[in-house]
Amino acid sequence: MSDDFFNPVSGMDLPRFAGVPSFMRLPVMDLNHDRIADVDVGLIGVPWDSGTTNRPGPRHGPRQLRDASTMIRAQNGATGVRPFDLINCADLGDVGPNPADIPDSMERITAFYKQVMAAGITPLTAGGDHLTSLPVLRALAKDAPLGMVHFDSHTDLYHSYFGGTMYTHGTPFRRAVEEGLLDPKRVVQIGIRGSTYDDEDTDFAKSVGIRVIRIEEFFARGLADVIAEAREIVGTAPTYVSYDIDFVDPTFAPGTGTPEVGGPNSFQALEVVRALDGLNIVGADLVEVSPPFDSSGGTAFLGVSIMFELLCVMANTIASRPAER
Ligand code: MN
Ligand code: MN
Repeated sequence: MSDDFFNPVSGMDLPRFAGVPSFMRLPVMDLNHDRIADVDVGLIGVPWDSGTTNRPGPRHGPRQLRDASTMIRAQNGATGVRPFDLINCADLGDVGPNPADIPDSMERITAFYKQVMAAGITPLTAGGDHLTSLPVLRALAKDAPLGMVHFDSHTDLYHSYFGGTMYTHGTPFRRAVEEGLLDPKRVVQIGIRGSTYDDEDTDFAKSVGIRVIRIEEFFARGLADVIAEAREIVGTAPTYVSYDIDFVDPTFAPGTGTPEVGGPNSFQALEVVRALDGLNIVGADLVEVSPPFDSSGGTAFLGVSIMFELLCVMANTIASRPAER
């Protein structure tokens, strides 16, 4: 597909440090734009961190990620994929949350994503803390539960925090399973590590059939073997990809609220996404980039590089669905 309107601004025409920084230098469109029906993938910011239980900051993520994303060029050097030639992409702006009210924020986010779904757009989200995934899944999985490939150093499967608080960035996928948004037998969590409170989260995973692949197993078996298993678990049915930047070792991604040492490097952070090529991905997010802890900006650059890899596999999938185009 070729449509000049949806081409990113090239660094060959305007230097990458110049211009208003939209996601990957794509056109910015609101949901009432007269070309909205032509958009295949919408890049969306959710500047919201009210679910954070420790060090905050991801509310500033989308703005910093947009700035860092101006570094991204049109072609994937590793795979040769040119996503903007395969599908139409646009920056759909930010969902405005209510930073003082979690339920109200979740309703606003879900309402926005329902409109995105109604327009036939596949969302690629920049968070926000990990609670962001729950209101997004409420829109995406309203008809049937999804599978999920989840990269994180935490399961985010706890029941509650502080004696009964149900909605934090440590609980989104517990709620998503309870609400029937995820099919737990088609959920795989990769990279889990660090000190924990107890086994309450992994006991729940076991009880419902979620596959948890700890980092020790990831390194012992190797990336290719682990991702091959993940692909079998989610199968060919609709699948969400949720990527917490703290999956990556804090040497490479220090700008996040809950870092855990002993993780994958930045090369492996990209490779795990490339290995998902061909899956039936119906949405994805990159969450937990916290600019106040990202003094070099390197975490945001890694974050948007992961988003570009996600976009490349999503573009391949969407472009290979002839019936829908
Ligand atoms: Mn997380
Ligand atoms: Mn995490």
